[in-house]
Amino acid sequence: VYGAYVMYRLAIVNLGIYGAFSNAEEFLSRYFKVVRVSVDPKAAPDALARELGDVDVIIASSNPQYSREFFRLSKNVLAVIRWGVGYDNIDVSGATEEGVIACVIPNYIVRESVAEFTVALILASLRRVTLAHNFVKSNLRFSRPTYLIGDDLRDKVVGVIGLGNIGSRVVELLKAFNVKQILVYDPYVNPDVVRAYGAYPTHIDDLIVKADIITIHAPLTKETYHLINKDRFSRMKRGVYIINTSRGGLIDTEALIWALREGIVKFAALDVIEGEPEPPHLSELLKFDNVIVTPHIASGSVECYRLMDEAVALDAIRIISGEKPVGILNPEVLKSPNLRLRSRGISLKY
Ligand code: NAD
Repeated sequence: VYGAYVMYRLAIVNLGIYGAFSNAEEFLSRYFKVVRVSVDPKAAPDALARELGDVDVIIASSNPQYSREFFRLSKNVLAVIRWGVGYDNIDVSGATEEGVIACVIPNYIVRESVAEFTVALILASLRRVTLAHNFVKSNLRFSRPTYLIGDDLRDKVVGVIGLGNIGSRVVELLKAFNVKQILVYDPYVNPDVVRAYGAYPTHIDDLIVKADIITIHAPLTKETYHLINKDRFSRMKRGVYIINTSRGGLIDTEALIWALREGIVKFAALDVIEGEPEPPHLSELLKFDNVIVTPHIASGSVECYRLMDEAVALDAIRIISGEKPVGILNPEVLKSPNLRLRSRGISLKY
């Protein structure tokens, strides 16, 4: 207790990058006693509760697991806010049952950065940017061997799988390159919306046959797991480019390796691969000169990280001010008699 009011404790957990590109920590420290905590990424609920039991608000990374058992054991915890994308490590219904608020950053925050990075991968693949750099680095001379001669994006047919937050921005950016046609496969988006983006709605099996470049922006679900499999690779145009910044599991990696060997895929650029963070096929993929692999970094820009820092900080402050946090995953908890915040003497504005 500081004077007349309570200073809440906020822990930034396994997230050294938080605040590296913003003044969010300083901002947070006006409202919270901020601590940085490192825990075992595989910490069991009881061990985690011992580390974080006296904290009020947690800013979480992609690890460790925040299970119901952890919330049950850590009665002080009011909220957990996930910095980054995805929240597989937070048991949202467990949080709700225990009266804990669970939040994530709103996905529009990463839209521009991931879309720009996707276009960067498309252009780097088409124009052999990494190969050209490696050529100069290892030969220390300027010449143009034929394998460095790439393809323009203009007049190409681009297939976009998933026209959500990111895919729709990729479509907008691609239009600046005078592509011939943009085909979209998204069974959940009205075809009129696809047309409004200046693209053509189509089925996956039509898209894979016609596209020169395929870029994937759908979520990983039971339905999309291995959406791009050996059968679909075998029906693609010879010389197709494959770009994936969504989730590794959308591509059957063994089938991709087969398609690279067969010369069906001319170039693949992958920001995500099955089995991250230790993808079993990584070393095999890296044997191909016509493959670019990046470490799941499509959202990694200074601007995006700053926006994520700020979004998380603002939601933390909203929570202890009794306001509804913008990125809430379990809004039903706000009405619940179990909501832990109720016992803290804050006047709730919901
Ligand atoms: P989103 O939910 O806004 O959009 C996803 C779109 O995919 C939706 O329009 C949905 O209708 C569509 N979709 C769902 N099932 C489909 C299916 N079976 N076939 C085709 N389309 C389908 O999500 P988003 O914010 O645009 O994110 C897209 C992907 O990018 C996600 O997989 C996300 O995890 C990933 N992502 C990656 C990074 C990175 O750093 N590489 C960063 C952010 C997001």
